[in-house]
Amino acid sequence: MRVWTAANQKGGVGKTTTVISLGSLLALRGHRVLLVDLDPHGSMTGYFKYDSDQLTLSVYTLFQANAQKTPLDPRTLVCHTPIEHLDLLPSTLAMATLDRMAGKLEGMGLILKNTLQTLSIDYDFAVIDCPPMLGVLMVNAVAASERLIIPVQTEFLAIKGLERMIQTLAMVLKARKTLDLPYTIVPTLFDRRTRAAQEGLDSLRQSHSDHLWQGYIPVDTRFREASKAGIPPPQFDPRSRGVLAYESLLADLLAEIPASPPAMAPVAAREAPA
Ligand code: ADP
Ligand code: MG
Repeated sequence: MRVWTAANQKGGVGKTTTVISLGSLLALRGHRVLLVDLDPHGSMTGYFKYDSDQLTLSVYTLFQANAQKTPLDPRTLVCHTPIEHLDLLPSTLAMATLDRMAGKLEGMGLILKNTLQTLSIDYDFAVIDCPPMLGVLMVNAVAASERLIIPVQTEFLAIKGLERMIQTLAMVLKARKTLDLPYTIVPTLFDRRTRAAQEGLDSLRQSHSDHLWQGYIPVDTRFREASKAGIPPPQFDPRSRGVLAYESLLADLLAEIPASPPAMAPVAAREAPA
């Protein structure tokens, strides 16, 4: 299973939209996809018309079971969406209390990773929507992921926030003694008619070219309409400019996945000992 996380400590930059768009595009390609809502505000859960106040089972249940040492089959937490091949591990507000629990509990950082390992027979991809604050949920997302996607709104203040996000990521990786986690910065909400957006994009290209996705996600009013309808943007309007941009992002992300090694590696020619 491939695991990607969208993260940024700034809200309103397109994290949830990115996760839903990439996840449902993968599902359209026939991949089995699990969307994971780690944000206690549950906007992805709400997108699919699940009420996070009413749900009794959520990501929170994983942490509870771990604390109480009770066995739990994570499949019982999964909700379906109207989209074929697309499921959701929902969020509830109780998750906002996890950081208080985390202080006294060992080993809470790998709960999501272990859960996804259990679910990896059922899904080809997990795409995680990360809360905008550093805490046990973000730590879990980082530990479980092979790539981070950092949506950044193309404007000056948002780019300042990006520096903070990169510092946070470095802190989490250091604390976890993890060497590195590849990340892709995705310019979002780009309005090419404004000079601020153009300057924002230029500034990203100057300062972050190593990790920057070469395209951008344009402002597209269809996203809000899709969200109101509770239908992922690619199923709502597959030809919209925003969806086409996410398709191009997805193609580039898929191209980054290292090819699995050939079944039988060719025997390397050895140098004769001197
Ligand atoms: P975050 O998860 O970072 O808080 P969201 O994905 O929820 O951000 O996006 C915030 C709001 O902006 C939502 O109402 C969403 O529909 C809208 N939105 C996201 N991306 C775009 C876009 N490219 N064009 C227009 N509206 C967008
Ligand atoms: Mg969100």
